[in-house]
Amino acid sequence: MTRLLDVRGLTAFYGDFQALFGIDLTVEEGETVAIIGANGAGKTTFLRAVTGMRPAVDQDVVFADTRIAGLSADRIHHLGLAMVPEGRRLFPSLSVEENLKIGAAGQRSGPWTLEEIYEIFPALPERRHHGGTELSGGQQQMVAIGRALMSNPRLLLCDEISLGLSPKVIREIYASVPLIRERGTSLVVIEQDIAQALKVADRVYCFQEGRVSLAGRPADLTRDAIAHAYFGTEDA
Ligand code: ATP
Repeated sequence: MTRLLDVRGLTAFYGDFQALFGIDLTVEEGETVAIIGANGAGKTTFLRAVTGMRPAVDQDVVFADTRIAGLSADRIHHLGLAMVPEGRRLFPSLSVEENLKIGAAGQRSGPWTLEEIYEIFPALPERRHHGGTELSGGQQQMVAIGRALMSNPRLLLCDEISLGLSPKVIREIYASVPLIRERGTSLVVIEQDIAQALKVADRVYCFQEGRVSLAGRPADLTRDAIAHAYFGTEDA
C-alpha cells in the first residue's frame, strides 16, 4: 500500500491555547480512516491544520510524497487534498449544479464529473436547478461532498457529515462512501457517532484533549478501550 498522508508530531495553537499536542496519523491509499472524539477534542483543528487553513507550529506533514507543511491552503488543495467543512457552507443563491461546478473550477483532472456525482447521490439530479436553500439538510450535505469531489481529490476530509441529520439520511450519505472509494478517492471522516465510525472505517483514531488516545482497526478495539479513549472513563 502507498502512504497517502503521513502526519507526525502535529501541534496547533489558538493564541496561547494549545489545541493539538503532537498528533501522529497516517492514511494509506484506498483507506477510509475515521477520527472520533468528544466535543473540543481537536478533530476539526486537525483537519484545518493539515489543509493549511490553520498554521500549525511543529509539523511534519507529507501528502502524496510532497511535504505540505507550511504550503498555502490553495497549493495543498491543488495537490489533491479536499475538505468538506462542518456546516456544509453552500452558496445559497446558486443552484445545486452551479455549486458543484464551482468545486471543479481550475482543478485536477480525474474520475469525478457531474454525472459521477449524480450517480452516487441519486437524490440530486432531479434537483439540479434548485437553489441551496430549497434542499433538505441531507441533500445539502450531498452537494457539499459532491462539490469537494469535483476537485478530483486523492484524499477527501469530511468534518462531521452526519451532524444534525436523521438516521435514515445518515445511512444514505454513508452509502456513498464505498462508491467514493471505488473511484479511487481515499477518505478521512470525523464522526461523533462511534458506531457509525466503526462501521465505515478501515482504521479509527480517537482524539482526547488534543492527543491521539487510541488507534486501530475496528475489529481490534474493545468497547471499554473506546469508552476510555473517548471519555477518559470506563463508562460508555
Ligand atoms: P467539535 O466536535 O466540537 O467540533 P473538535 O474535536 O472538532 O470538536 P476543535 O473544534 O478542533 O474540536 O477544538 C479543539 C479546541 O480548540 C477546543 O478546546 C476549542 O474550544 C478550541 N478552539 C477551536 N476553535 C477555536 C478558535 N477559533 N479560537 C480559540 N479556540 C478554539
